[in-house]
Amino acid sequence: MNTNATYEVVIGLEVHAQLLTNSKLFCGDPIAFGAAPNTQVSAISLAHPGTLPVMNETVITLAVKLGLALHCDITRHHFFARKNYFYPDLPKGYQVSQDTAPICTGGYLDIKTDDVLSRVILNRIHIEEDAGKSIHDADDQYSLIDLNRAGTPLLEIVTEPCIHSSAAAFQFLTALRQLLRWLNVCDGNMEEGSMRCDANISIRPQGTTQLGTRVEVKNLNSIRNVKRAIDTEVTRLIELAKQGLPIQQETRSFDADKGTTSSLRSKEDANDYRYFPEPDLPAFEISDAFITEVKSSLPILPEALKEQYQLRYGLTDYDASIVCSDQEEAAFYEALVQGHTFYKAAANWIIGPVKAWCNEHSCSINQFPLDPIALGSLIRLVESGQVS
Ligand code: ADP
Ligand code: MG
Repeated sequence: MNTNATYEVVIGLEVHAQLLTNSKLFCGDPIAFGAAPNTQVSAISLAHPGTLPVMNETVITLAVKLGLALHCDITRHHFFARKNYFYPDLPKGYQVSQDTAPICTGGYLDIKTDDVLSRVILNRIHIEEDAGKSIHDADDQYSLIDLNRAGTPLLEIVTEPCIHSSAAAFQFLTALRQLLRWLNVCDGNMEEGSMRCDANISIRPQGTTQLGTRVEVKNLNSIRNVKRAIDTEVTRLIELAKQGLPIQQETRSFDADKGTTSSLRSKEDANDYRYFPEPDLPAFEISDAFITEVKSSLPILPEALKEQYQLRYGLTDYDASIVCSDQEEAAFYEALVQGHTFYKAAANWIIGPVKAWCNEHSCSINQFPLDPIALGSLIRLVESGQVS
């Protein structure tokens, strides 16, 4: 690379979303975060010989829901694949995944960064099962294995390498998490690992189109840390390029305490997953009728509701986006403005005292102790000067 060039940052994100189902992807074992280790596992999760998987239909519904909300094409003919690798927390020795037939292809999510609109193009969304968890820091001598998570359904959402700043990556993840929660597809909790993100990052001289060598950064447990890791990595890559040093394709880990990344493995150690069609699960079709049914069950989406609120209640873009941050808040707002037109004042009450109280008590707006209709009447009295 030309050492005097200025560089464009190129980012592609891979997001794993754990689905809000009651049971696992291919068996009836329950899914409960924080359950005692190895209590949510039957012979099927443990992959004992002779056990067979059965598809969880809710997973298909949730995947199609998300795909439709993200403007994806829904694949009709489905079959699963085995992704083979050996790891102690993977009882089967393979993960059942969708290799060449992801349930959703294409699609996009529009985001706003510093008041500029941009479109993040998606490559695909596919279904796969999660592995268990290895715990390396709980015992001096041994690594511990918890298989509760093994077989939990995930959607992997993969973007094209079309994101050009850490701020845009931050906005994309924020909007995606809002949508996942809005649709009840995933609780979006990155601290608990029910939403996880790997960031693929490269740089290229400004004005060129060929992709540079990428690094993939893992162990990012909050959206803020994704942004921090990208910033750290971009600085490192540009420094290498400026010194005329080569960039290695590798996987790196982010240390949130130190704010640094370090190499986990290089491309040479990349796994060969030996994908092949899963013989224990039959292929299946998704019908037009199924897609129509899921489409008709979709709630109004956050962006559309936000626009409605701007038109109907005259809210600013900012106020509308806060009031529409989740479906409960929007419902609370609508109850709050029943029978009067103090729309802006009602939004201020949510953005101010109501949210402050909820944050202080770590609860959702549904748990706010005043009924929104009663609070709405109070707002009317205050705004009409009847009480101070
Ligand atoms: P893999 O499955 O081996 O990680 P993929 O080709 O599916 O590889 O890409 C994974 C992610 O990496 C995608 O989000 C993609 O957009 C992104 N990506 C691929 N090449 C680059 C690159 N040169 N720079 C930045 N991101 C990239
Ligand atoms: Mg990857």
